[in-house]
Amino acid sequence: MLVAPLAGWSTPLDEAPDAVFASRMMGDGVAIDPLDGVLCAPCDGEVALIAQSRHAVTVRAAGGAAILMHVGIDTVNLKGEGFTVVTREGARVRSGEALLRFDLDLLARRAPSLLTPVIVTTDSGFRLVRRVVGREVRVGDPLMDLEPERAAAGAPAGSAAGQGAVRRARVAFEHGIHARPAALLAASLKNLAADVRLRARGREANARSTVALMALGAQHGDEIEIRASGPDAALAVQALAAVLGAEAAAPPRGTVAVRAGDAASAAAAIPAVTLPALEGGGTSPAPGAKLPGVIASRGLAVGRAFHLRRPEIAVAEAGAGVAHETNAFDRARGVVRARLERRAAESGAGAGARAAGEIAAAHLELLEDPELLGAARVSLAQGRSAGFAWREAVRGAAAQLRTLADPRLRERVDDLLDLETQVLVALTGAGAASVPELPESAIVIARELLPSQLVALDPTRVAGLATAAGGATSHVSIIAAAMEIPALVALGGTALALREGAELVLDAEQGVLEVEPPPARLAEVRSVLAARRARLAAERAAAQRECRTADGTRIEVFANVGSAAEAEAAVRNGAEGCGLLRTEFLFLERDSAPDEAEQRAAYQRIADALGGRPLTIRTLDAGGDKPIAYLPQPPEENPALGLRGVRTSIANPSLLRTQLRAILGVRPLEQTRILLPMITEAAEVQLVRAMLDELRLELAVTQSVEVGVMVETPASALLADRLLAVADFLSIGTNDLTQYTLAMDRGNPQLASRLDALHPAVLRLIDTAAQAAAGQARMVAVCGGLASEPLAAPILIGLGVHELSAVGAVIPRLKACLGRVTLAECRALAREALAQPDAAAVRSLARRAMGEGGEGAR
Ligand code: PEP
Ligand code: MG
Repeated sequence: MLVAPLAGWSTPLDEAPDAVFASRMMGDGVAIDPLDGVLCAPCDGEVALIAQSRHAVTVRAAGGAAILMHVGIDTVNLKGEGFTVVTREGARVRSGEALLRFDLDLLARRAPSLLTPVIVTTDSGFRLVRRVVGREVRVGDPLMDLEPERAAAGAPAGSAAGQGAVRRARVAFEHGIHARPAALLAASLKNLAADVRLRARGREANARSTVALMALGAQHGDEIEIRASGPDAALAVQALAAVLGAEAAAPPRGTVAVRAGDAASAAAAIPAVTLPALEGGGTSPAPGAKLPGVIASRGLAVGRAFHLRRPEIAVAEAGAGVAHETNAFDRARGVVRARLERRAAESGAGAGARAAGEIAAAHLELLEDPELLGAARVSLAQGRSAGFAWREAVRGAAAQLRTLADPRLRERVDDLLDLETQVLVALTGAGAASVPELPESAIVIARELLPSQLVALDPTRVAGLATAAGGATSHVSIIAAAMEIPALVALGGTALALREGAELVLDAEQGVLEVEPPPARLAEVRSVLAARRARLAAERAAAQRECRTADGTRIEVFANVGSAAEAEAAVRNGAEGCGLLRTEFLFLERDSAPDEAEQRAAYQRIADALGGRPLTIRTLDAGGDKPIAYLPQPPEENPALGLRGVRTSIANPSLLRTQLRAILGVRPLEQTRILLPMITEAAEVQLVRAMLDELRLELAVTQSVEVGVMVETPASALLADRLLAVADFLSIGTNDLTQYTLAMDRGNPQLASRLDALHPAVLRLIDTAAQAAAGQARMVAVCGGLASEPLAAPILIGLGVHELSAVGAVIPRLKACLGRVTLAECRALAREALAQPDAAAVRSLARRAMGEGGEGAR
């Protein structure tokens, strides 16, 4: 039994605002919010380790368990200030004996959190069987019960000798150590004072440098040697081994999984290819040539070749004095940092700006990379100019990445070169000159395009992008897809030899760049584009009207949104409300959950952007394909069938309570309704409702808020009548409903073409749910991907669906399609669809019914 080493409030470890502790990478335990500045021994034992900066102590219990007590978060940064050690390493201590005193006021002012994780480290061979949380504890009060892990065989795998430690581990990350795992590894060392190096494939890397970690080129299953020295060496090797081996089959937790249908994932889903030779020679491809490429952003364009060459910014090798150059370097980095921070913080108008913001955040991390900085500073100390030092450092790292076989890592070279240019521009003031003046309808040709180059171009003049190199998963491809600019990549060096101004058809639907095609082909493409534009303009103009079928049946067409900017864009596209706010956007890519105030403000911004139209806020849908690193999640063999959706919220009541309180804070409250993901039975709804009622009482909220159930499992479709006894409405999530009905993983690219929500089995489940809703005169919506398919809309309406919540951009199309059919036609079509043998048959039926071979519905 361990006793409380501190007086304070004991909470679950997940409350610790640090992913390394909250995700239990280093071990399981509790976190104590201290009320007093004395840390004591949690059991009889020996003081095994005192961090050099005095903020953490490890005690080894007589039975062998190692208990790490880490006072506050990020307190290593205080470098010992405010801490007084009253014991020594190796001392035998009694339970409750003082080990460390700390200045509570100073920590409260200087550390991000006082929460003190008390954990049984993972290599102890013990596991927790009971813990006391959610109450105040005094020193000596019972805190945790441990028992030996039966499976724990012998001594820990690592060896620690004095201030050094070595350990071997295997890479469990499915795609090896690419950008995100590298960031996770580096982040796990944030609180530890140790110099740590990893060795793999004959290379060595500083474990705090994401660039160096990526350059290892380590793949899934590779053995890695971890070597650490310094006061926290043992903890450091333990943390890294835990991260490296953290996930056997699952994707790295904290990564954003690819969701079919997202702009970014459309690019990511395209397999990487071997690059064709880049040495194109000087001759322009002959008129009529067709250059095959990889589709990075779908679409069709016609325009003239415009070569975008990256300006080579001249830098002198010799500097004007070490101090002068170092100052210039730090100033330039400061300018770039400020610009990137601004861009990263912008929610931006539209998905393009949002993607650019996320990429800016990644660039910020590279800007602070210790290996890059270290290399540049060595060069500066040798008398080189700031520009030369930075360029050499970046190019050295880029050269290493280029040698790797993994195309995902090679694509990160673009990011490095982009950062090189940004810092050089800040140093030399060459900025303004590097933004080119584009002609109308430019098809921008480049060897490879950098994200900052793309966002600097005038989007109204860019018809398409064509690059010789590059990959479909590169950051620039993701931005292009989000900006809806057609793009082909990996066209090979021939593209670079294209005549400036040559007429081109960029067909990013078939994957070819057509060089100076015959006039008839140009005319054909122009007329297809003109027809598309005219149709779009007419539909946009009509989109602000209420949606009605040809016979006047009112259908509500809402939008799925993820930010205030998207909500504004959706309203411009004719959205009559938001049928699904995926609140995950607030919880992903960070170290801890947003608090009530942050959530309330975000929901309020979206409610305001909707201008009084209904806002359906879905509670956090974590787990499955949306893992969140800081949420405690037991290892799961099959996360799609594990703790996800409402199950995660019920398992983390404080998280759910905070979210419900935030939703109750939105004004006017009548505008909002709540949607619960992954429901399988009424009890789950009742539980959330009970909490909601309790909170309404607590907050003196008199209005009631509608609570809806997502129908995403066959169980909820079949039990829809029972669920409606406790819920107000249904919203069908066809993405998951299809995955669970067809037993096909929605993220599996090999099954992507068969994962079709128009499968008659899925339609029959929708039919069951819609009939249940009709029987009780309740509203049933569809908010999954199928609602964004104009071809499917008449079938859904025919089945009895009242509301479609779609991607904003397709709303004009949806409204137009529904305006051409009557309810009776929709019903007849739906009946026929239910009788089809497979999804392909449903699709051809729908195409025939919509006329023009389905073109009208595309
Ligand atoms: C769905 O499953 O259809 C749905 C809308 O939820 P998500 O795609 O966020 O899982
Ligand atoms: Mg879902």
